[in-house]
Amino acid sequence: MAKAVGIDLGTTNSVIAVMEGGRPEVIVNAEGGRTTPSVVAYKGDETLVGQIARRQAALNPAATLFEVKRFIGRRWDEVKEEAARSPFAVKEGPGGSVRISVNGKDLAPEQVSAEVLRKLVADASAKLGQKITDAVITVPAYFDNSQREATKQAGEIAGLNVLRVINEPTAAALAYGLERKGNETVLVFDLGGGTFDVTILELGDGVFEVKSTAGDTHLGGADFDHRIVDWLAEDFNKEHNFDLRKDKQALQRLIEAAEKAKIDLSNASETTVSLPFITFDPETRTPMHVEKVLTRAKFEELTADLLRRVRKPVEQALSDAKLSASDINEVILVGGSTRIPAVKRIVQDITGKTPNESVNPDEAVALGAAVQAGIIQGDSSLGDIVLVDVTPLTLGVEVKGGMIAPMITRNTTVPAKKTEIYTTAENNQPGVEINVLQGERPMAADNKSLGRFKLEGIPPMPAGRAQIEVTFDIDANGILHVTAKEKTSGKESSIRIENTTTLDKSDVERMVQEAEQNAAADKARKEKVEKRNALDSLRVQATQQIEENTSASQDAKDKLKAAADEAEEAIRSEDDAKIADAQKKLEEELRTFMTTNANQSAGGAQADAAGAGAQAKQDDDVIDADFKPAE
Ligand code: ADP
Ligand code: MG
Repeated sequence: MAKAVGIDLGTTNSVIAVMEGGRPEVIVNAEGGRTTPSVVAYKGDETLVGQIARRQAALNPAATLFEVKRFIGRRWDEVKEEAARSPFAVKEGPGGSVRISVNGKDLAPEQVSAEVLRKLVADASAKLGQKITDAVITVPAYFDNSQREATKQAGEIAGLNVLRVINEPTAAALAYGLERKGNETVLVFDLGGGTFDVTILELGDGVFEVKSTAGDTHLGGADFDHRIVDWLAEDFNKEHNFDLRKDKQALQRLIEAAEKAKIDLSNASETTVSLPFITFDPETRTPMHVEKVLTRAKFEELTADLLRRVRKPVEQALSDAKLSASDINEVILVGGSTRIPAVKRIVQDITGKTPNESVNPDEAVALGAAVQAGIIQGDSSLGDIVLVDVTPLTLGVEVKGGMIAPMITRNTTVPAKKTEIYTTAENNQPGVEINVLQGERPMAADNKSLGRFKLEGIPPMPAGRAQIEVTFDIDANGILHVTAKEKTSGKESSIRIENTTTLDKSDVERMVQEAEQNAAADKARKEKVEKRNALDSLRVQATQQIEENTSASQDAKDKLKAAADEAEEAIRSEDDAKIADAQKKLEEELRTFMTTNANQSAGGAQADAAGAGAQAKQDDDVIDADFKPAE
């Protein structure tokens, strides 16, 4: 059985890990990085993922997609504001969902995230020397039902068998607690690029029991960056009457510079943001620059309200767990943004504890996911570990008067199942519509509607007689399944889900195929480029031979030159058949040329002539030294 991996699919960075000899280990990507930027770029018809996508962002702002996790499983009306700030086009999709428009194509956020997963898994498969198919993927604890489902679907689109979706802070606690003995209560504080999670767990005897979880899926490091962006842009606007945020390329550069400044300020007390040639004066066409000093104090002032916002979820988690700050034994920091000194300070202030920094804030989540994958696969080195997690938000149905009737309250241990009986309000009512809601507010309209379920085919009967049994079933992934049946008639009626933003099965299947086709096309494209490059280096070698073999006959030189010219033309035509033909011909001509001129040039060269083509095929910039005739 191939090993299952654990994947931290982050807003900003993703990490993949696997169990190796009883311990979880991060698997480095093809570029040698332990973390992979969750960035996907479309360039021509090529798909770039990770560091290479990130690097070209400023040059390709409309087709470089980042922080897509902010949109996954979301309704358009929830993300409108964030969408407006994005350098790429985010718009409303079918059924109130979110779509990203790139090069005239509409992509679901799930599809984009699938590209990140695909790269992580492909690189890991290459590193481990086995094809990986099974994975545990993490989500912020505070992700609602649709966000979880969408994440699972992203995994499926990437061709993965998603063993489990687990909460990021729970995963971090698993990584932290693996080697701890004794009982303790820990608070995991995870502030990443786009989301904030707080989870309180009790650890002891291999049991990891989540007591409560709270968070804010709209708060992360990127919000801190945007404060700096706004500060820079507003200042620039005041001085030059020009809003840099309206220029996509300038905006992308501002965002990058802002993040860099923020990171600098985690170590230094001041930093200079310098963006030469950020734009041109529209009238005089003279270049304009940004050059500004940002102090840590100013940064803390700009982000004061964001810092205040972390307080409430911590207090909420404590009160839900019926604990006070003094009951917490350890505070574990996870996520890159916990490196901000003011964040550390506020955590210490709220909890009264110096945060424990024994776990790597970038890797803990993936490591914990790998542990969970190991547990599911029955990895014997792990012993008996039991993970008890909870659902982060209350689930219920809308009842008369527009209120929510809770079915499963927040912080209930999952899996969980609950059945309630509802009835009809009118005589001979043929069906009912059940609005499934998630959230903590008393009025239905203030909560998130996960979908409307229609139960149809109820036989005619007086109002209040029907017995409609609605069952909510949350699986170990925290994903809800709803069933309903009418009991008096004894018949199970059909359920139709409407008004839901998650993709349906046929969409997922189509996207799996598309993704596979794209992967195949990328591979074919790469091979094509390699063939072209191979022919080109052979052409360069031929030209060199002509120049260096002064004693060769003009006729021989002309023949080789003709083949080289043909190669050049074939390369330009991009025609596969022509390229293959030209390759064959040039190889032959080169071999003949080398053989006939062997006496005049080095003996070693002729033996190498045939080999040169093969070598050039593998390496596009071979202008091989051992191919040169010896002087
Ligand atoms: P996610 O889980 O969302 O993928 P990460 O945990 O990787 O995110 O954190 C990414 C965020 O952390 C980014 O906003 C990044 O700018 C921020 N970050 C990384 N290093 C530092 C640092 N030294 N100081 C402040 N912020 C940092
Ligand atoms: Mg994270």
